[in-house]
Amino acid sequence: MQKPILVWFRRDLRLSDHQGLSWATAQGRPIIPVFILDPETEGLGAAPKWRLGLAAENFAKSLGALGSKLIFRRGDAIDVLSALIAETGADTVIWSRAYDPTSIERDTRVKAALQDQGIEAKSFAGHLLYEPWVPKTKTGGHFKVYTPFWRSVSVSMTVEVPLPAVTTLNPPENWPQSDAIADWDMGAAMRRGAVVVAQYICVGEAAAQNCLSDFIQTKIDAYKQDRDYPASAATSGLSENLTYGEISPRQAYHAGRAAMDAGAKGAEHFLKELTWREFAYHLLWNFPELDQNPWRPEWSDFSWKQEDALFWKQGRTGIEFVDAAMRELYVTGIMHNRARMIVGSYLTKNLGIDWRVGLKWFEDCLIDWDPASNAMGWQWIAGCGPDAAPYFRIFNPQTQAEKFDVDRTYRDRFLDTENSGDARAFFAACPVSWNLDSSERVIEPAVPLSKTRKNALLAYEKFKELRG
Ligand code: FAD
Repeated sequence: MQKPILVWFRRDLRLSDHQGLSWATAQGRPIIPVFILDPETEGLGAAPKWRLGLAAENFAKSLGALGSKLIFRRGDAIDVLSALIAETGADTVIWSRAYDPTSIERDTRVKAALQDQGIEAKSFAGHLLYEPWVPKTKTGGHFKVYTPFWRSVSVSMTVEVPLPAVTTLNPPENWPQSDAIADWDMGAAMRRGAVVVAQYICVGEAAAQNCLSDFIQTKIDAYKQDRDYPASAATSGLSENLTYGEISPRQAYHAGRAAMDAGAKGAEHFLKELTWREFAYHLLWNFPELDQNPWRPEWSDFSWKQEDALFWKQGRTGIEFVDAAMRELYVTGIMHNRARMIVGSYLTKNLGIDWRVGLKWFEDCLIDWDPASNAMGWQWIAGCGPDAAPYFRIFNPQTQAEKFDVDRTYRDRFLDTENSGDARAFFAACPVSWNLDSSERVIEPAVPLSKTRKNALLAYEKFKELRG
């Protein structure tokens, strides 16, 4: 019997366009798919950890349909992999690369330890369209601004055509023992929200592919003009699937590209948005502290307030667009992109609270949490990141609402508890400890917008003066 290959799955929970899995099946050897609940995965925020658990459970079913299995093990990755090597006689371990600093540190350690044991350890691309170190400016540096990044990659780089789905995986002679993923209770920290959020999510490879084709068939043409309206469901909704690798970015890209070639008006804009995700990873690769320190170092001295912002988290600011958006987050597990910008601007500028407070909160609550896009989004909105919205650009949530939620559909959906099921669902989806009551409605802004805007601008002027 040939020696098995261990395929360590992480954020690549799919059978199609999986470079590592395709390579492994081409070897004609037995394949043992593995999913590890290691300390890094244990450390995820409540919502992404729960959602990842659902993705893994679903993927186990897809493997089962092919007569294979996903082996669930808990522990430090190198300990688990070494144990599996000893139990199965495997001499090769492969995985798809991840590019956040925590994963890079772990994977480097694992690769070295496996090689020390004489095991072949191979990593493959697949989470991105372009490896984050590849795009280069004309002078050989990395990009700091999105538009030249887009221009450069769209002109000079090719996105390979996606690989077909793997349809056979040779089983090993004996399957190693597996934990039951249900025993891990990966949703424990979701408290009562999971039941509500579960109605909105789109789990698994087949669901992701349906979501993509629905988007291409019915939405992409109008994407550019409609994508900013949070009530319109005009975007692809693919971020959660891209996050867990239930779909590959190449699949999304090529579907968008074909639509563009067929004349869909919004298609190029969709490719541009996918490229924002690439840009985020390019930035994170070149500045691994993106989620910790301001990308512009001078902003380390800015006097951000270190407050918990509980009333912001609870959606009780009295600013309707902000409150509706925060409630969308608890009910659906995601938040519309425009709403993310508005709640972020309100937190960091009107309230003057440290952008890392918002970043951490999103990290705990977003089912599409992505280490690069989240960090880039928060730095952008706070004004301290590359290519950032300048500090003096302060979104006015009221005029934004008048423009992007003209008929109040979005606000009413999440705030009008008498007439909207989603508004009532919020009370079942937010943390129990908040003890919120649906009869309570915040009408008056907790802090007046014009005053806080003025304060924000003053703080910025002072900061500029101090820096000379
Ligand atoms: P579509 O409009 O259909 O876009 C297609 C894909 O392009 C998305 O799925 C996403 O992968 C990518 N994309 C679109 N906009 C952006 C963007 N601004 N930045 C990076 N990639 C983008 N996105 C995440 O996936 N995870 C996060 O944790 C995250 N945190 C954010 C935090 C803040 C403060 C802000 C302002 C934005 C954040 N975003 C994040 C980006 C964006 O809001 C979401 O990607 C988008 O709302 C997802 O919806 P969609 O899949 O329907 O996007």
